Amino acid sequence: MKIAALAGGVGGAKLADGLSRILPENSLTVIVNTGDDFDHFGLRVCPDLDTVCYTLAGLANPVTGWGREAETWHVMDSLKQLGGPSWFRLGDRDLGTHLERTRLLAEGFTLSEVTKEFCGRWDIKHTILPMSNDHTPTIVHTDEGQLAFQDYFVRRGCQPQVSGFHFESIASARPAPGVMEAIQDAGVVIFCPSNPWVSIDPILSIPGIKETMISDPDGKQIIAVSPIIAGAALKGPAAKMYTELGIQPSALSVARHYGSRTNEGLLTGYVFDILDLDQEKDIQGLGLSTLVMNTIMESSEDRIELAKEVIKFSKSLNLSKN
Ligand code: GDP
Repeated sequence: MKIAALAGGVGGAKLADGLSRILPENSLTVIVNTGDDFDHFGLRVCPDLDTVCYTLAGLANPVTGWGREAETWHVMDSLKQLGGPSWFRLGDRDLGTHLERTRLLAEGFTLSEVTKEFCGRWDIKHTILPMSNDHTPTIVHTDEGQLAFQDYFVRRGCQPQVSGFHFESIASARPAPGVMEAIQDAGVVIFCPSNPWVSIDPILSIPGIKETMISDPDGKQIIAVSPIIAGAALKGPAAKMYTELGIQPSALSVARHYGSRTNEGLLTGYVFDILDLDQEKDIQGLGLSTLVMNTIMESSEDRIELAKEVIKFSKSLNLSKN
């Protein structure tokens, strides 16, 4: 059975890594948010794509979850000494990625071609695709006005109050080559535990993607893993965003966000943390099958365990359908 996984940065990369450790090479495609991509010092930086690639390649910084392991910061130090902007931290090894990507893009290669090349060089066996080769920057609406995503996220440390989002040029964006095929061919689509507003929604907003997910006459399983645990995010602003948008952050709210297939939403199954067991009835009340377990991935064994259980769950949903 083929699997397509939608992912943002750190949370998504961890489950994608677990999946990659248990699935054969040709049966997993990870489709990654590129709404966070931006240009800095003239370089194209793709934070989520790089986090997923570094993680699957075993090159990621195990402490931060983003950036490279054994990183050095000589360029940043030199930049700071010169009074240059240092709010977005780019390590020396990481910079090599952005330099080469920018050079290849300027030569006319697409982001998916560059990503394929890098994955080959990093010996990544499974397929990682950017959601689109078109640039669709995420804009955060805040009490300080509309902010480009990295301005909000890194420069302003997620401090401004959020009132909404939009993804520039998304209406004319096309899925990157292979994205539609991966979703069409998948028996299961997994929404990794990533920020629903700014990591998964950009992918779902590309015209055609949602339609393809639900157009399968036999009905593929679409399963989300909650990134909200006990009302909080393990990292990042997901819970803060929910609160500022007037929605209580919870596993239930995330399930409502994606919606159940039985109520014209997307999901057929939902995985959430044992700490939120008390929400199970309400979540099932949305028309969703549920799997409740530990979803906090602290170790590599946790990633594999969650990946195995999600796959097992999807198979049980297929069986109960027949
Ligand atoms: P970012 O791009 O690094 O912000 O990362 P993501 O888009 O992947 O989203 C961050 C979300 O992932 C937050 O809501 C976290 O709570 C969630 N997250 C991170 N690690 C884990 C984990 O181990 N388990 C679960 N269930 N969620 C996680």
